[in-house]
Amino acid sequence: MSRPKQRLLPFFLPMLGCPHRCVFCDQRAISGKASAPTAEEVRRALDGFPPDMEAELAYYGGSFTCLPRSRQEAWLSLAAPYIEGGVIGGVRVSTRPDAVDDGVCAFLREHGVTTVELGVQSFDDEVLRQSDRGCTGESAIAACAAVRRAGLRLGVQLMTGLPGDRPELALSSMKQALECGAELLRIYPTLVIEGTELERLYAAGKYAPQSLTEAVSLCADMVELAEAAGVPVQRLGLNPGPELERSLIAGPYHPAFGGLVREEVCFRKAAALLEACGAAEKPCRLLCAGNDLARLVGQKRAGLERLTARFPGVTVAVDPALAPGQMRAESAD
Ligand code: SF4
Repeated sequence: MSRPKQRLLPFFLPMLGCPHRCVFCDQRAISGKASAPTAEEVRRALDGFPPDMEAELAYYGGSFTCLPRSRQEAWLSLAAPYIEGGVIGGVRVSTRPDAVDDGVCAFLREHGVTTVELGVQSFDDEVLRQSDRGCTGESAIAACAAVRRAGLRLGVQLMTGLPGDRPELALSSMKQALECGAELLRIYPTLVIEGTELERLYAAGKYAPQSLTEAVSLCADMVELAEAAGVPVQRLGLNPGPELERSLIAGPYHPAFGGLVREEVCFRKAAALLEACGAAEKPCRLLCAGNDLARLVGQKRAGLERLTARFPGVTVAVDPALAPGQMRAESAD
């Protein structure tokens, strides 16, 4: 069963609080926001937000808990009347793992925070060092534990293709995130953005980005691990937008990156079912839920073409009895 999507009202605080700049990062290009919103803009958005106690106001794009407490309070207090009034359920913040401990989590909780997303990116110390993150895998594990101890929902953001990264390291970071109790995940393949240190490394031949095919395949592996653990991957790839496309130098960018990964996961499931059904030797029918048909057929019918190339006699049909995500294969005889 797919879970209902939790609604978010996101605001970007581009690199607010960040003690330095990580090699790959330019939040202004990534978010398309040159500056933080005003208090009035946040209030106006909350005023127009249809009440939903599952929803959260979210502050992304910076290191929230590195800001002075007075500024954190100012941002969080904007949400307080709307939490009390039943418009939203709480606040979500994203921050660096080394800026989170028990005291920080207690403060966040007292001020209406319900979810903390940690920009872990990798649990591998060498990858973190080469990415100039200024923190370690151990600090990320400790931060995850603090968030969980405080009873806050834990989100973990991971990246693939960072300097020094390899597919097996990214996969072990995903396993570690799940072991740490991540309740939601985001995965971002590394892009080379103009003006970053990574652009200089790339220009000097010291960094090679993943290809789109490599990134899709690795992210599909990571999604499979998360799905097996029942943890939702809420985002795959950066939000597409004109600012990001203008600043993009290289890397596995696709405006529908998440869709490509979900299609890859769907293709793999379908191929495994057809294989087990003997579809390489005889005509078989693959049945899926109505919602999944587009994903199975794929962008520009690429998924269907791959399936029919491997299983020439296959036909695909919808079975209304199947729940989203379920598929089955049967002999067409
Ligand atoms: S990756 Fe996170 S900590 Fe590093 S500069 Fe960007 S927003 Fe700040």
